[in-house]
Amino acid sequence: MSRFDIRKRDGLARIGVFQDQSRSISLPAALETGALFPDLSRQAFSNLPLAAPAPFVEEFAPDPDARPIIIHPHLPSRAPGGECVMVPNWHTAFFNPRSYVDWLVNLKEKTAPDTVWYAPASALPSTVHILCYSGFDLFDFIAVDLKSAQGTFCMTEGELPADAMESGICQCPGCQAGNLREHNRQALVREIALVARFIALGQLRELVESRCRMHAGQVAILRHLDNRYDFMEKRLPVGRAGVMLATSGESMQRAEIRRFTERLLARYIPPKSEVAVLLPCSAKKPYSLSQSHRKFQAAVAGRAHELIVTSPLGLVPRELETVYPAMHYDVPVTGYWDAEECAVISSVLARYFAKFRYRRVIAHLEGGALRVARMAAEECGILLECSCTENPAGSAALNSLDAVLAGERRIKDDRIHGMASWQFGCDLDTKGMVLRGHYPEVFYSRNNLQLFSIDTGTGLLRPTIDGWNLIPEGYRVVIDDFIPEGDVLAPGVVTADPAIREGDEVLVAGPRALAVGKAAVSGEEMVQLRRGVAVRVRKIKKVQG
Ligand SMILES: [Zn+2]
Repeated sequence: MSRFDIRKRDGLARIGVFQDQSRSISLPAALETGALFPDLSRQAFSNLPLAAPAPFVEEFAPDPDARPIIIHPHLPSRAPGGECVMVPNWHTAFFNPRSYVDWLVNLKEKTAPDTVWYAPASALPSTVHILCYSGFDLFDFIAVDLKSAQGTFCMTEGELPADAMESGICQCPGCQAGNLREHNRQALVREIALVARFIALGQLRELVESRCRMHAGQVAILRHLDNRYDFMEKRLPVGRAGVMLATSGESMQRAEIRRFTERLLARYIPPKSEVAVLLPCSAKKPYSLSQSHRKFQAAVAGRAHELIVTSPLGLVPRELETVYPAMHYDVPVTGYWDAEECAVISSVLARYFAKFRYRRVIAHLEGGALRVARMAAEECGILLECSCTENPAGSAALNSLDAVLAGERRIKDDRIHGMASWQFGCDLDTKGMVLRGHYPEVFYSRNNLQLFSIDTGTGLLRPTIDGWNLIPEGYRVVIDDFIPEGDVLAPGVVTADPAIREGDEVLVAGPRALAVGKAAVSGEEMVQLRRGVAVRVRKIKKVQG
């Protein structure tokens, strides 16, 4: 029996090891797949066109016992976890980005998550990044060898005539020997190694956003995939520790960006405050450590709920400024906001203010952010007071901000309440809770009982077992009648909340033990997978019974 041990995920992309009786193969990789799968050379109907109609596919169905197992949009996917599946003719999908994404979603949704995905004759140095991003792991040299036979020099940026090899663009051994076939193969191997490195870093999206610029079809694939928000979102981690580069038009549509907003509008509970003040963002994160925000906070002096207007996230309440990706994004700052940014962000603000009604909304903004706030105010029918129109951190503007807030009451600073509502969808009772430690190493306790700490990488709350007692429902992983020794493995999971994403804090609950930890995979996958870690456990407590 074969198996696929997934070591690291980044959305649909994976790094892992495929093992059968005799071999152990690190993926992603390009290999001589004819040798790997002898059935490939003798299997009938292994070349089904992706666009073939259902009756045709049923009539010429491939042999279900041959390896790799052929999957097709019109066939049920019977491949068990650990097997390798192949999508014939995937290279033709590039000609139609909309179908590419329709077929991919269809196939991914019905195939076990721990299958190896082989795209035959598809990988070029210029396409393999988006193939990995789409969840393919295994490739061959057929496409690059064909390019060599056609006299085409392959680069990650695209394909050039063969004489480009003599122009000094590449210094690989193939180029030095004047061997086009060798260069093209090496260029593919090198690009796969680079893609694997970016998967390991959790920055494949950034690499793909950069690489796809040279190919209109690839940009279209990225956009169509982003439009499948529900499909993408459940496959993306809830937090990352590194920088999130939001440097392209597509960044705004990234599911992790949209998830922040969706949770803001669906789960988040603001503090009891009748006055909101809109503030500009700062390059330094979290905002409150920047010079400008120290000044804003001194001027506001707790008399209003602080909301930061920012691209691409839209709106970040002060309590959520350390939560991924609010503390992690990096954008090119020009002061200019384009029409799409303005439209997307003003609609976030409009939806927010339509849901949460404040007595006063004060815009302490300038430029694009002020324009967006005005658009939003008009859209949701609220009156916007402006405490400045330029240089919000200047002394004139700060004095004006102080003056417009004169007479307003101080509101209770309840950061953990806002964070818990966003992360767990709960209305946390924070009465008597105190904050200890120094940012970012802080924890919350009550009567000397520690309840929550904060993950310094992702900014997410980490409840202790006592902390979980305050979160009435959700984010539970139910296990069998055993006491975990270390991490909880997928076969031990009975049910898991489908809202759980990779990286979420979860409570493991079974008849004999409670445990707290971090989800290694989504709740859906915890139930589907037959092997591998489901929850990385931090603390276990035996249940007396
Ligand atoms: Zn070369």
